[in-house]
Amino acid sequence: MKIFCIGRNYAKHAHELNNKLPSEPLVFMKPQTALLKNGQDFYYPSFTNDLHYECELVLKIGKNGKAIHPQFALDYVTEVTVGIDFTARDIQDQLKEKGHPWEKAKAFDFSAPIGKFIPAMHLDWKNIHIGLEKNKTIVQQGNTKDLLFSIPELIVHISQYFTLQTGDLIFTGTPEGVGAVNIGDQLTGYLNKQQLLSVSIQ
Ligand code: ZN
Repeated sequence: MKIFCIGRNYAKHAHELNNKLPSEPLVFMKPQTALLKNGQDFYYPSFTNDLHYECELVLKIGKNGKAIHPQFALDYVTEVTVGIDFTARDIQDQLKEKGHPWEKAKAFDFSAPIGKFIPAMHLDWKNIHIGLEKNKTIVQQGNTKDLLFSIPELIVHISQYFTLQTGDLIFTGTPEGVGAVNIGDQLTGYLNKQQLLSVSIQ
């Protein structure tokens, strides 16, 4: 399976990191070794001093497809959850400055915790709320109505370049409010107020 991630898909988040808004989806990938299943502990990596959470709506792909037509795009998503796109911000800043790829800052082991999946059926795709608490305080909230590129647009775009396969995941981008985590922190992720994700930082 593959993990796709979308950068800068909420305007307020792009602005908080002083990034320009993209004219087409900004796509990057994480390997399967980046996955961290719901409830497993995350161990703070030794190579960073500025690890950030990015809470995101995560789509699970339920069938194979290439060059998917917009009209059918949503048929490919069978389940959803919330996940965290962990980012070593200090390393990312160094890599961005040099114009180098982001993998070391974003695709390292266990950099993609995912919550419990729920069926995608009956979701209102233009009004899915996600939220993240750090130590019981809300730090991020977002709604798919604010996405720069909608979920169907992301599926159409990605599938022009990469065959989507059953089990692939798409992290759809983070809203504003990203910030640092430290050892001892507890992160809790919500989708439409339902708690789906729990990660403790060790
Ligand atoms: Zn992200």
